[in-house]
Amino acid sequence: MFVSDLRHFLDISDEAPGPARKMAEHLGFVVRSATAGNAGASWVSALTCRRRPANRPCEGRIAVFRADLPAPIEWRCTACGDEGVISGWEDSPYDLRQPGSLSDDQSWLETLVTDELAATLRGLMFLDMECERLVFQMRSSSDGIVLTAGAEGLDYLLGFVAANANHETARRRQRRLQAAFEVLTDALQEVESGHTVSPVVASQARESLGDTVDLTGRWRILEMDLWDREALDLVAPAFIEFSLDHTGRFGFIAVTGWIDWRRAATSPSGVEFSWEGADDGDQVSGRGWAALQNDGLHVQSFGKQRGVGHTS
Ligand SMILES: [Zn+2]
Repeated sequence: MFVSDLRHFLDISDEAPGPARKMAEHLGFVVRSATAGNAGASWVSALTCRRRPANRPCEGRIAVFRADLPAPIEWRCTACGDEGVISGWEDSPYDLRQPGSLSDDQSWLETLVTDELAATLRGLMFLDMECERLVFQMRSSSDGIVLTAGAEGLDYLLGFVAANANHETARRRQRRLQAAFEVLTDALQEVESGHTVSPVVASQARESLGDTVDLTGRWRILEMDLWDREALDLVAPAFIEFSLDHTGRFGFIAVTGWIDWRRAATSPSGVEFSWEGADDGDQVSGRGWAALQNDGLHVQSFGKQRGVGHTS
């Protein structure tokens, strides 16, 4: 768990050691994503993991969570479990909470973009807050990275991409900007020809472009067969978290533990899992199954047996 205060990273100079600068950039990206998206639910951003286990880039994405109330931002890699909390982010230059002036009543389009294009957009200079919000609201889905924008936003973004390309002297980066320009131009043409979806914003947009539901991230448990709702949130809000690598964790009342999960064959929003954990210090395990609904996760069964590895 990496506990950090953003204020200590804001003034890092160009002469600082590489790892410190990389960490400052990572934390800045996380804060911008968490504040551009909605509060109250965890969602998987387009940010890639900065770690290199066994010298290969980790393939995980960074899931972010920001509570409704002022609180540290939580982040976690969906693959390697690298995680941390960031305090001191409020009212920093990376705080994108202010809703922008882009109108909500326009038509929106979801465009799939590559990691390289996402990184190019994050690297744009002199971006205004409206466009930063669009860039950092990009989320990961099972199909790839999704950029959600309307005609107005795409138009602004295109302007920044063009301006950056005009000032860019490095040929490689200029080529990337050119590629970004082409993708955004196509997207704008598509919006203008009416191929749009209804407005969606990061954490609400959990459905990927296909017909499967993206289950990764942290969910509030709203209902359980064995415990009633008030009991569930007695100690802290009950939650269950699904990582991309099909592990995860959960916590409710005095029970905490880990899961292995897979999609239920019968329902696109269903998930089956086995779990192991501790209930007030006793080792317990079991199997369960849950379904995702619009308001959160409803756990249909959470079978429990005492002692790990025994079946009764
Ligand atoms: Zn990772």
